[in-house]
Amino acid sequence: MEEKETKKILIIEDHKDMLLILGRFLEEEGFLVSGAETAEMGLDSFRQEQPDLILLDLMLPGMSGLEALQIFRAETNGTTYVPILIITAKSGIEDIVNGLGLGADDYLVKPFNLEELKARINTALRIKNLNDALLQKKIELEKANQQISQLNQRLLEKNQELRRNVFNLHSLFEISIELNSILELDRLINSVLLTLVGQFSSKNALFMMVMKPNADYLEVMNSKGLHKKEYENLIIPKNDPIIEALRKNPVPTSLESIDLQLKERSESLHQLKKMGLEIITPIFVQNAIEALVAIGPRVSGRPFDRVEWEHFRILSNIISIAVSNAMLYNEVKQLSYTDGMTGLHNFRYFSLRLKEEVSRHKRLKSPISLLILDVDNFKNYNDTLGHPAGDEVLRKIAMVLKQTARENDIVARYGGEEFAVILPGTERKGAAIVAERIRENIEQTPFEHEEIQPQGKVTVSIGAASMPPDAKTAEELTKKADAALYYAKRHGRNQVKLYTPDVPMDDLPGTL
Ligand code: GH3
Ligand code: MG
Ligand code: MG
Repeated sequence: MEEKETKKILIIEDHKDMLLILGRFLEEEGFLVSGAETAEMGLDSFRQEQPDLILLDLMLPGMSGLEALQIFRAETNGTTYVPILIITAKSGIEDIVNGLGLGADDYLVKPFNLEELKARINTALRIKNLNDALLQKKIELEKANQQISQLNQRLLEKNQELRRNVFNLHSLFEISIELNSILELDRLINSVLLTLVGQFSSKNALFMMVMKPNADYLEVMNSKGLHKKEYENLIIPKNDPIIEALRKNPVPTSLESIDLQLKERSESLHQLKKMGLEIITPIFVQNAIEALVAIGPRVSGRPFDRVEWEHFRILSNIISIAVSNAMLYNEVKQLSYTDGMTGLHNFRYFSLRLKEEVSRHKRLKSPISLLILDVDNFKNYNDTLGHPAGDEVLRKIAMVLKQTARENDIVARYGGEEFAVILPGTERKGAAIVAERIRENIEQTPFEHEEIQPQGKVTVSIGAASMPPDAKTAEELTKKADAALYYAKRHGRNQVKLYTPDVPMDDLPGTL
């Protein structure tokens, strides 16, 4: 059970007898009483003992009761309410009015009945209790209010951050779709660099990757805002401390913080810093760091905030996926046997089939011939009419070749503007006839604006070699056909040359 708290009453009364009587009476009633004979003493006592109620005589020597009343009210703090009952003589009606105006709660006129005093005190204390409870509630409410407004503020901030995030994620999503639609590696990397420079307003950006198969270093593939001269000699070995650091912590990291972590000096890191790059991030292909992206400071100089670091991290992942896809696509393309532009077989297929046909020829002792064609003065055509027009010529030649060749012949695009035809079961004489027919058909085929060519026509030169007698292996056969082609070029173009031992074998242009 809660014990009823003893209430403290301060009596300020200059008449000693009166003070004694009141004090004793109230003590008997169960109150804790302290007395003061002057207002000054009463104030001291009020400050020290913090009474629950004050009984205040208005007629006092020195400071008057009304003055004291004003001070009490001024000093009452906001957490508790102290009722004040004023006591005055019959003549002091005016004082009563003033006292009530200054914040007294009740009054008693001398002489008064002690029972009446008790009743008045109890009423005042009840009011005090209610008042205190109200004050307590008010304080709690204010605190809750404050918390609510803080929460509200935080909610507003979060909301803003979320909106910004949604916006940024949306653009990241679009970037992801765009980057992943680019399968050609060069174009992809160019797009990646433009995206980074655009997204972060960076001064510069650099893309490095392992470019040669099985190479153990990364080299610069492309850059923005940097001069080639600045990274001419830049390579990063796969076991460079930078790569080690990024492997341990595979997220965008400032070069500065990598530098601080490193126990050994990394030359590459210093080179990157010297170029004005600031943040580096690893690009993973099949769980290995196959590329790096580095970006420089913002044009405005403002450092990255938390959200931007996070976006760079997401972007790095997106780039990793896009680069992996492009590399996979390249691999698949290399695995294919078809030349995308002409629809003919490609060089890979040609090499395989030539080997096969040569070993079959050896087994069956059947002859085999090879033609290699090269478009005459094609550079001139390209330079004058543009690459797309040149492509159109190549496609048309491919069609003529397919139409002219027989079912069993293997027609392939050998290189840029070079074609090869394998003629299984065809000896030298037959090869000469097929080659001449091809040359003639191409000469007769109309091509767009071919009048700009030196001979007024698109023509080809053809070199041919046969087994027997010219070669024993596929390589030798190819070399001899190529030497014959070169010979035809030097002897006026638009002609067929069958290999003969007098065709020089060295000094070939680097076609093979
Ligand atoms: P030559 O008669 O000695 O063969 O002269 P050329 O001009 O044909 O020889 P060159 O090797 O100097 O030039 C070959 C040109 O073929 C260079 C290149 O622009 C063009 N070329 C190679 N591949 C393609 C291609 O796929 N499409 C187009 N349009 N042009 C190509
Ligand atoms: Mg050529
Ligand atoms: Mg040519």
